[in-house]
Amino acid sequence: MENKVKFYNTLTREIEVMVPNEDGKVAMYTCGPTVYHYAHIGNLRSYIMEDILEKTLRYVGYDVKRVMNITDVGHLSSDADTGEDKMLKGAKREHKTVMEIAQFYTDAFFSDCKKLNIKTPDVVEPATNCISEFIHMVEVLLEKGYAYQAGGNVYFDTTKLDDYFVFSQGVEKEQLQVGVRDDVEEDANKKNKNDFVLWFTKSKFEDQALKWDSPWGVGYPGWHIECSCISMKHLGEYMDIHCGGVDNIFPHHTNEIAQSESYLGHKWCNYWFHVNHLNDQSGKMSKSKGDFLTVSLLESKGYDPLAYRMFCLQSHYRKPLVFSYENLDNVKGAYEKLVKKIASLKDEGTVDEAAFAEYKEKFTDALCNDINTSMAITVVYDMLKADINDKTKLALAKDFDEVLSLDLLTAGAKLAEQSTSVDSELESFILAKIEERKEAKKAKDFAKADAIRQELLDKGVAIKDTREGVVWELV
Ligand code: AMP
Ligand code: ZN
Repeated sequence: MENKVKFYNTLTREIEVMVPNEDGKVAMYTCGPTVYHYAHIGNLRSYIMEDILEKTLRYVGYDVKRVMNITDVGHLSSDADTGEDKMLKGAKREHKTVMEIAQFYTDAFFSDCKKLNIKTPDVVEPATNCISEFIHMVEVLLEKGYAYQAGGNVYFDTTKLDDYFVFSQGVEKEQLQVGVRDDVEEDANKKNKNDFVLWFTKSKFEDQALKWDSPWGVGYPGWHIECSCISMKHLGEYMDIHCGGVDNIFPHHTNEIAQSESYLGHKWCNYWFHVNHLNDQSGKMSKSKGDFLTVSLLESKGYDPLAYRMFCLQSHYRKPLVFSYENLDNVKGAYEKLVKKIASLKDEGTVDEAAFAEYKEKFTDALCNDINTSMAITVVYDMLKADINDKTKLALAKDFDEVLSLDLLTAGAKLAEQSTSVDSELESFILAKIEERKEAKKAKDFAKADAIRQELLDKGVAIKDTREGVVWELV
């Protein structure tokens, strides 16, 4: 089939046409969440944009197999090998076991994804399911001389590679070599500063909850090894696209490539897709800041999660995005107008095939050109304004929604229903209050009657006594 999906490949630093290893089929891997807390809306920005990439590939005809891990062990507070185990931190915080925490936040993650219309990957595998695969990979790396044991742990020796810093160039490489780990404490067992842990047996947490037997003693895997093993388990030795947020580039993805290619003896993954961060106004979004932004928080403030999805789609995945309620309000308004407009279209007549093809091509071009989602949304507006019949517009909206997943055809009706149900709820409340006031007056409890009148006024409802009875109006 024709290969026409282009996007920025972090490995080559160029926008490239994605050519899969097998014609028409794409093997895609996504680094999944560390399930020690709710995902923040920054994490979910990455998953929304990766969902768009997957759906774009499917939209143009690829058969995609997408795999995602669930990190339920081994991810320490720093992405290098220091700090506290994130899962243990979650368990202590909530006085639960690590597995209870993992199950709870895995379910919470998929519930958020559902609300955001993010498709669940074809395969989802928790790291704790694959301990024997991790051990096998570490054994092979030791056999091949890429790994060494020190102080009870097994480390990957990054000096065995000609080019460890595959994602960086020149000056950047030097900076990574000397600078990047300066803020974290040194592990005296490491031969080289950039070496990383493949298997821990000795760590500073005596109370590490999950431990497994291994040829090197009872312990647990390093974080990076899980993505290498889980992807190979389900996608084989060659992969087309690997995704994650930009913070994953170093050290996580750099380490994944180091160990995978040393293990396999050949190139592993051709295209690396990275989503830039969502930041809050104070800077980087984080789960440890306490009151962090979640989908539930947005919902509690009256935002439809799909308005947040549209917020993400309106900017390019490679640019940092700053979150503010003011910007979200603007998008919310635009989203509601858009879906109401689509809801007002009449499902009559026949589809104009030429117009359908014209707009479908524009939409496809926008997405195929480095996943330009804001341009794709502009095509939606252009087609709604165009001089074509409603039936064609509805057919196009339905077709575009296969990728955008904004419930373009159904959200308008839902909104209308919500506003009528709010109206009827308010109306029955007002009528009940009027009745209550009538009773109070009958009982000569005028203070109560006045209080009810004031209560309604506070809710924006004015009542008037007329000869025909009590009437009310919204003020
Ligand atoms: P974690 O649960 O920390 O392993 O992260 C899950 C995903 O979210 C990873 O792909 C990260 O790269 C990504 N991520 C982390 N922080 C942000 C952020 N502020 N904006 C966008 N993506 C992020
Ligand atoms: Zn990963």
